[in-house]
Amino acid sequence: MTYQNVVNTARARLASILQQAGHHGAQRPGLAIALVLGTGLAIGTGAGIAGTAHLRAQVNQQQAQIEATRREAQREVNALAARLGELQAEANRLNALGERLTRIGQLQDGEFDFDKPVGVGGAGPVEDMPKAELGAGMTKLQRQFAASGEQLSVLESLLFNRQLDMNAVPSREPIANSYITSGFGGRADPFNGGRANHKGIDFEADVGDPVLAVADGVVSYSGVRSGYGNVVEVDHGNGYVTRYAHNSRLTHGVGALVRAGQEIAKAGSTGRSTGAHVHFEVWENGHVVNPRQFLNEKSPLKG
Ligand SMILES: [Zn+2]
Repeated sequence: MTYQNVVNTARARLASILQQAGHHGAQRPGLAIALVLGTGLAIGTGAGIAGTAHLRAQVNQQQAQIEATRREAQREVNALAARLGELQAEANRLNALGERLTRIGQLQDGEFDFDKPVGVGGAGPVEDMPKAELGAGMTKLQRQFAASGEQLSVLESLLFNRQLDMNAVPSREPIANSYITSGFGGRADPFNGGRANHKGIDFEADVGDPVLAVADGVVSYSGVRSGYGNVVEVDHGNGYVTRYAHNSRLTHGVGALVRAGQEIAKAGSTGRSTGAHVHFEVWENGHVVNPRQFLNEKSPLKG
């Protein structure tokens, strides 16, 4: 029953009582007045109690709803606060990484500010977090991420340029713990005994041994070439291309980015080969060159 219904019912009862009073009033006006007053008081009290109780129930219900909504909103805020904590931990990690890179790269530009403390992160809030604080935290974190991102980009390019000379020139061995079985240049052809120009150097290997990229680069060929068997070629982007032949298996397709020392094939004896080995060539601006000049100064293979 709504409050309006209560009022309407009370009015109807009052009207009928007034009618009765009018009927009796002709003879006994005093009784009529007493009836009206008494009834009015009864109606007023009755309607008042019923209406107040009803209103109170409504108010209680609304308060419960408001409280439930508030709790729900706070749960969401707390969840966001926990996420903020995670992001802050991530920011800390990034800063630590940047700091380490700066140290490794021995950069002393004063351009990097990785020591600057970032917000407290980790466990997340124990008490409810005010929304305003959450918003401020998010904004601060966003700025930190942007700053860290910029710093890391600059750092990366600096380190990349520094590493480029070291890693983009063929300066490593294409296979670990090996030795040269055949050098570069003129030699007796191992098949027909005639004179032949050996365009690379051969390294001793067992079938399945990892063949390693001698410098950073991108795989520019991966497949079979006449005489070479399964061959992989890496373009180092600075005029140098290296070729690794007679593999039993090729592990990287054209376009794959490879790092110095990374496995790019499994050694084997495919193509024109008398036994498992790695045939290694270095091309410089389209001309085949003696790979030996690029081998690491400290390498026993250099000798
Ligand atoms: Zn060879």
